[in-house]
Amino acid sequence: MTYQESKNSITEKEFDNVCRQFYIMDQERSKQSVKQMSISPLDLTMFFTIVFGCALRPKELFYPTVEDFDLKNLIIKLPVTKTGFKQCKCSIWKKPKDGKKKVLVSAKKNCELCQGIGKIRKVQYTTIKSRTDAERIRKYFEDRDLAPTDRPFPYYQQILRKYFKQAGERAGLKIFTAKETRMIYNLYPYILRESRSKIMEDLGAKESMVKLKLRHSRAGNLLLRYQMPSLGELKAWEAEHYN
Ligand SMILES: [Zn+2]
Repeated sequence: MTYQESKNSITEKEFDNVCRQFYIMDQERSKQSVKQMSISPLDLTMFFTIVFGCALRPKELFYPTVEDFDLKNLIIKLPVTKTGFKQCKCSIWKKPKDGKKKVLVSAKKNCELCQGIGKIRKVQYTTIKSRTDAERIRKYFEDRDLAPTDRPFPYYQQILRKYFKQAGERAGLKIFTAKETRMIYNLYPYILRESRSKIMEDLGAKESMVKLKLRHSRAGNLLLRYQMPSLGELKAWEAEHYN
């Protein structure tokens, strides 16, 4: 494989093929009487379908409970995210001259809200990209007989990575991504988030719309903060572009 042949995102069609591989992997195991997959093909498919459709960081789907999925309004509440923090009232932050990221100057050591770290978690919301996806999720939850407070996807990142990589190899996907500290030659779950942003760009989405979907920080660019579309506008855009 040459670098020219490889790529760092996948299409919807390639994704469907990856999911088909989960089922084939499972069938082959049962034929050979090998131990069952620790996450079923359907569970894997649903997990990655939501990560892909919502452009999530895979870990972010471990925490929502069934009732965090508002399937009627196509919204998911994300209790634990990478960027979902706000400054605690007890703290003082300063923007350094060179860097973009604010740094903590001081916080109340025994603050009940933040325990002295100066920031508290803030939930984030994102959209489910289509009614079709919402209906699949609804049926899946119903079949699993989950309670409202159950977390549907309490998986280990390593196991998800392993199956996803295997399925990618079987699907013949040629991936190459250069990250800051390493090179990746296999299919990895984070690619779904990057692929969603590429798909949106290819469909003509404005940069601010893609940023909203990825839940990128709005604080960085003051101008962009005021131009940021709402979740409602994102829903309208998705209704127009996906079915
Ligand atoms: Zn505090």
